[in-house]
Amino acid sequence: MKFVVDGMLGKLTRWLRMLGHNVKYSIKLDDAQLLMMAKKEKRALLTRDLALYQQATAKGINALYLEGETEGERLAEVAKRYGIPLDIDMATSRCPKCNAKVKPISKEKVGHKVQKNTFTNYNEFWQCPKCRQIYWQGAHWTKIRKTLDTARENLRKTCAKSDINLHSQILIRERRKQNKR
Ligand SMILES: [Zn+2]
Repeated sequence: MKFVVDGMLGKLTRWLRMLGHNVKYSIKLDDAQLLMMAKKEKRALLTRDLALYQQATAKGINALYLEGETEGERLAEVAKRYGIPLDIDMATSRCPKCNAKVKPISKEKVGHKVQKNTFTNYNEFWQCPKCRQIYWQGAHWTKIRKTLDTARENLRKTCAKSDINLHSQILIRERRKQNKR
């Protein structure tokens, strides 16, 4: 999916890019620019700013007001609204820093570009074609998996809650019908 996010959501931006989404983000963009970019480039606007969210919806822009405090909560909110999977697939993953799609790079080519330990311990590497940053699923990957697990758990909880809401709404409707009879 294509997103544009406000300046308060830098961390979420990196997550969404890793999940393979095209995310525009800059702390230099003001509200008017964010709205224009969302409209012109058909991007969903993610924001922590209620006034901006209201402006967006008034203009018919696809927007989501994020209430979660942690990355796990925010990712669940985005996943719920847009139905995006909370799994990182390196075949579609993007550079968290600059949004370009990362590409596999052979171990030989990585060579001295990473520390010796990393080179010895890992065999799969990816590189960003834009900023040349090299990625591998190192020790930090455990933390990444944990955050995604938390996000999926949050998603399950909120979906279960809305199922209950839906269920009770149906019950109310049924009762109303019965009362009318
Ligand atoms: Zn990059």
